[in-house]
Amino acid sequence: MNVLKYVDKNMNNLISDLQILIRQPSVSAKNEGIEECSKLVQKLLKKSGIKSEILRLKKGIAPIVYGEIKSKQNPKKTLMFYNHYDVQPAEPFDLWDDPPFSGIRKGNKIFGRGATDDKGELITRIKAVEACLKITGDVPCNIKFVIEGEEETGSAHIEKYLKKYKKKFSSDGVIWEFGYVDAKNRPIIGLGMKGLLFVELSVKESNQDAHSSLAVLIKNPAWRLIDTVKTLRDSSGKILIKDWYKEVTSLSKQDLELIKQEPFDENVFRKEFGIKSFVDNKKGMDAKKALVAGATCNIAGFVSGYIGNGAKTVLPSDALIKIDFRLIPKMDPKKQVARLKSHLKSKGFGDVKIKIFHGEAAARTDSSDPFVNQVKDAADKSFGTSILNVSNAGTGPMYSFVDILKAPCISIGSTYMFSRIHSPNEFARVDLLKKTTKCMCLIMENFGKN
Ligand SMILES: [Zn+2]
Repeated sequence: MNVLKYVDKNMNNLISDLQILIRQPSVSAKNEGIEECSKLVQKLLKKSGIKSEILRLKKGIAPIVYGEIKSKQNPKKTLMFYNHYDVQPAEPFDLWDDPPFSGIRKGNKIFGRGATDDKGELITRIKAVEACLKITGDVPCNIKFVIEGEEETGSAHIEKYLKKYKKKFSSDGVIWEFGYVDAKNRPIIGLGMKGLLFVELSVKESNQDAHSSLAVLIKNPAWRLIDTVKTLRDSSGKILIKDWYKEVTSLSKQDLELIKQEPFDENVFRKEFGIKSFVDNKKGMDAKKALVAGATCNIAGFVSGYIGNGAKTVLPSDALIKIDFRLIPKMDPKKQVARLKSHLKSKGFGDVKIKIFHGEAAARTDSSDPFVNQVKDAADKSFGTSILNVSNAGTGPMYSFVDILKAPCISIGSTYMFSRIHSPNEFARVDLLKKTTKCMCLIMENFGKN
């Protein structure tokens, strides 16, 4: 029997282990079941023949489960699987058809919080390694598992963990915690993620709300904030803060080619959201380029004054706006914050208070890195076809891995695009779990060979 046949034959085992994992709640936002789940993950690793230990920074911080297997045939190359054992809160409970931590199987689907994100993904990596060990008594390259417990609350300590255990974690390539599979069952191989800067701007003008007749004398903080944010971005989406794009380099020829090849049905997309046109009337290649490599300045929320039913003639005393900036490679969040602050001052908005919530740089693996083809070949063999994506439009803590470990990082996995992750009735598809497990076997093989 070869490794892939072992995967076929042992799917029931994979499914029942996944169900066990789902049935152990591990909600990081509520610190519910985190310690218990880390121990359960250790148990499952052990069952598959993988030695592990619990790593800690200090009490109160979710531990990392670290697993490792040395390869006899190729001890010089190391592949890391990065995953997380925590899940999003399951609320609202009443929208679930079955209890959120049931792990119930219905045909091709296994339901439960974490079924896909990220317990389903994690189990495919564990079972792929198990298949290699059971059939060959070895792994094609050294394997390291870094399984964290705070991903769903923003991976607050992953950078500290990576720095503290830099040597232990050192790897030549990293397989990211998830990867999307599109509606046509094509896995999307992601080579990067955008960064994020989340800020709050606020203005407090008076010590109390006032009768709006006084608007002739009392300045309105909502107008003040509107005037402020209008200086940040023009209507085409371009950010007007001085030097915002200073370090950004243009897309390589190869990246442009990959973007061109990537399927994107803009009509379906517009229909899905009920919109007539895109920002700046972007079409075709420009729309695709924006998704992969566009920076944004987005108003996430704006609160001031009266927003209840009917009319209320009031002059609010304060106003608050939340803004997220998606960052692209080479944009340093710290530098961008300084630029934003000096922009506000130089435009005469020094009175506007600024609070920084979150800053994270973008990460991107060079599309010409050999690791990319090794993963692509594995995905093509296992899924029949695959799509290369230069960068996801979203954000994850990938930069810390690329920057600290100096290793290429690629996202590939079993996450069906419409598997309701973070929502009620989250599910994993059995067919995709199987294909992904085989894909992981082939990735290890390709990686070890080259
Ligand atoms: Zn998630």
